[in-house]
Amino acid sequence: MTEEYNYDLVVVGGGPAGSSTAFTAAKSGIKVALLEKENSIAETVRTSGVTWIESIKEFGIPDNCYNPIKNFSFVSPNNEVTISNSIATAAVLDVRKTYRWLAHEAEKVGADIFVKININEVIKNENNDIIGVSGTGPNGKIIFHSKVIIDATGFASVISKAMGFVTQWERFGAGAEYEATVENIDPDTWWLMVGQEYTPAGYAWIFPLGNNIVRIGVGVGKPESSIDPTQRLKEIIEKQLGPIKKLGKITPIEFHYGLIPNEGLSRKTVYNNLILVGDSAGQANPLVLEGIRYAIKFGRVAGKVASDAIKNKKTDKDALYPYEENWRNAIESKIKSAGKVQDRWIGLSDKEWDKELDIIKELKTEEFLDFIKADFGLSNMLKLAVNHPKLAVRQLFNLVKRK
Ligand SMILES: Cc1cc2nc3c(=O)[nH]c(=O)nc-3n(C[C@H](O)[C@H](O)[C@H](O)COP(=O)(O)OP(=O)(O)OC[C@H]3O[C@@H](n4cnc5c(N)ncnc54)[C@H](O)[C@@H]3O)c2cc1C
Repeated sequence: MTEEYNYDLVVVGGGPAGSSTAFTAAKSGIKVALLEKENSIAETVRTSGVTWIESIKEFGIPDNCYNPIKNFSFVSPNNEVTISNSIATAAVLDVRKTYRWLAHEAEKVGADIFVKININEVIKNENNDIIGVSGTGPNGKIIFHSKVIIDATGFASVISKAMGFVTQWERFGAGAEYEATVENIDPDTWWLMVGQEYTPAGYAWIFPLGNNIVRIGVGVGKPESSIDPTQRLKEIIEKQLGPIKKLGKITPIEFHYGLIPNEGLSRKTVYNNLILVGDSAGQANPLVLEGIRYAIKFGRVAGKVASDAIKNKKTDKDALYPYEENWRNAIESKIKSAGKVQDRWIGLSDKEWDKELDIIKELKTEEFLDFIKADFGLSNMLKLAVNHPKLAVRQLFNLVKRK
């Protein structure tokens, strides 16, 4: 038997983008369904979960969902730098707890959450515009009719692909990590490890979660490198490379694997009755492949814009465009600048990485944070590109300053 439902807004994908869209849309009073294919929200973790305290506060994420980070250590084959701070500016999220909190916030304001629903088809009207989705649920075929649909399916972009609007991402990051207990770790300090032995295109990391738990991982840029991140992760742990040695005995608790788009903001994100958010929209900072705060922030914008459009009974691409305008104004030029730095970093040899760390050593804490967060404010960057006392740093900022 086929189950059939009618909603104002159907959000496909219960990650941070989907839950955040469902939250603002349901809060504005429209009828919202959030559909997730797994058995529960965040059943599988596909992310390292690093984000920024500023964003955590903006979103109201509870304090018990993260471990705060004060210090940032970088290691290259023959160099090391630690940028220290007296206050915590970054955080490693308890991903499951945070994503479930986001979904629960949506549920509390009235969104209906459906799990074990694998959406694999779109329903179109005579103009070829999307008017619903269908898939399989615990009881067989299931159909959702909707005025607007949100593609929040992440890297897979299931809805946009089924509509024929996008094809598979060709440039992306692949990452593998263990969540593990270790003997020794400073819970205030994260580690980024660069150089050929860690990964030929990307970086490796140690992110502490508190209670002697860490996430140790390897990210690899595709198609730049053909190496398998899982294999490389096992090798660097076995060789006890760099700061991994200091961790002592490593006892894995859980394995995580994921893919993240790295093509800049190449996709159009509104169509008639359809919005793309989060990874399906490619909203990630390419420098450190960071997308959670954008997924939440612009998910919330998408939910508001979609509900306004539904209430005004006009849901074509023009009515939904304020969403695209909002996120492009907020991050487009920053992401382009971050892409330029990434292009420089992806080609560095071990010797050049050693030198790059000397440049990073010259950055003040705030400059480093702006840099790694891709928060390249125009006046700030122009000032630094002209006035920074160190030539090498001036050259680095020249690279990112906007024309
Ligand atoms: C290895 C790795 C490390 C990362 N580390 C960080 C980090 O430290 N900090 C950071 O900010 N970002 C990080 N990211 C990026 C970050 O995880 C993403 O940007 C973010 O998860 C995007 O959220 P989303 O909601 O768009 O997609 P997702 O989190 O991928 O959620 C998509 C959801 O849709 C569901 N879904 C998919 N297909 C269907 C379907 N057909 N039917 C129903 N449901 C479906 C999925 O099960 C999933 O729950 C990392 C990514 C990777 C791969």
